[in-house]
Amino acid sequence: MAPRHASVMIRGGTVVDETGERRADVLITDGTVTAVGTDLDVPAHATVLDAAGCHVAPGLVDLHTHLRQPGGEEAETVETAARAAARGGYTAVVGMPNTNPPIDSAAVALEVLGLGASAMCQVAVAGAITVGRAGVCLAPMAELAALGVTLFTDDGTGVQDAGVMRRALEYARGLGVTLGQHCEDGALAAGGHMHEGAWSSRLGVPGVPAVAEELMVARDIMLSRLTGGRVHFLHLSTAGSVALVAAAKAEGLPVSAEVTPHHLSLTDAELAGYDTVFKVNPPLRTDADVAALRAACAAGTVDAVATDHAPHPSEAKDAPLDAAAPGMLGLETAVAVTLEALGAGMSIRDVVGLMSWRPARIAGLSVDQGGDQGGPVAVGAPGNLCVIDTTERWEVDPDRLSSRSRNTPWGGRTLTGRVRHTVYRGEPVVVDTEAQR
Ligand SMILES: [Zn+2]
Repeated sequence: MAPRHASVMIRGGTVVDETGERRADVLITDGTVTAVGTDLDVPAHATVLDAAGCHVAPGLVDLHTHLRQPGGEEAETVETAARAAARGGYTAVVGMPNTNPPIDSAAVALEVLGLGASAMCQVAVAGAITVGRAGVCLAPMAELAALGVTLFTDDGTGVQDAGVMRRALEYARGLGVTLGQHCEDGALAAGGHMHEGAWSSRLGVPGVPAVAEELMVARDIMLSRLTGGRVHFLHLSTAGSVALVAAAKAEGLPVSAEVTPHHLSLTDAELAGYDTVFKVNPPLRTDADVAALRAACAAGTVDAVATDHAPHPSEAKDAPLDAAAPGMLGLETAVAVTLEALGAGMSIRDVVGLMSWRPARIAGLSVDQGGDQGGPVAVGAPGNLCVIDTTERWEVDPDRLSSRSRNTPWGGRTLTGRVRHTVYRGEPVVVDTEAQR
């Protein structure tokens, strides 16, 4: 597809990528970075994006997006999710397979990939580990891997049967793919609607104990050790979980982990008003868990911040806490929320790394793996970039989000840090915070 904008100049910013930080303009021509340097001449007819006071980074990569299509188009479509992603600075998202039908066959994967071909960011998909995400029979992983699928998960639920998970890991190892696990022991979590702790007791709401997550993290670390299979732990939420991952990494096991912006910033105290927008799975945990997740990001134990962007129509949230669907929007607020949570203790480069080149590698999308995500910002690199103003304060207006849904926990709140521009394959898809198509 021919780029709509032959030349784009990102001018006056500070480039931040895996190699470091430097003041530089960036010129993108026909989809490729063709010059990086100070005071570059602006070619005639170039689109100029002002980056003064901003950081210019490789486009962000979200490992955990619920696209909802097929089957949940009242909540989101591939097109609207990609638009929301672009406004959040993302140039690639990995769609979770818990659609209806689920992505457990080549046909459904091809349908979603086809819808993503014209979207405002790259749309990759994760395949299901088991047929129907039912946890019994392995999905045709080889067939999906042949389409370029590198991540498999039954997300929305964890693989409960250790024998099935063992076989899946053995198979995944042979295919060179990664299994993503939504760590939740179904028996321990059953009937819970928030974190089991002081707040659930006070509110009289059945809880999900931290151990429901940690038990499966521990089990899958053992199964990774047994099989040599690679496990990516999705949306870890407890101090115990990240401690287990730190030990597994110290042992050299092939494991990686992500956390969400909301688990880095919100606690179970938010449920005090029984507001269903704060119902999410895994649930918001305690102050001590939030502190442990932040420390694990700073220590390098956590590899990625992933949104778990989970759109729901209002009727799914306008319900009593026990009946409401779990999940919240994330793509359009992730940069601000993550910078607020981690910016005090980490460099901008390390925070961007958690959202760009490190998740790009986990998803198999990075430049050094033959993909076009994750940077670095250098001559010859793909034109996937975002421009972040780390100081802009803005109030989140749910009605101005690009997602088809409105279930953001940040509505009416003022956040600091905002994506100003996004360039995807050389096209300025977001300019001055507004989507261009
Ligand atoms: Zn999940």
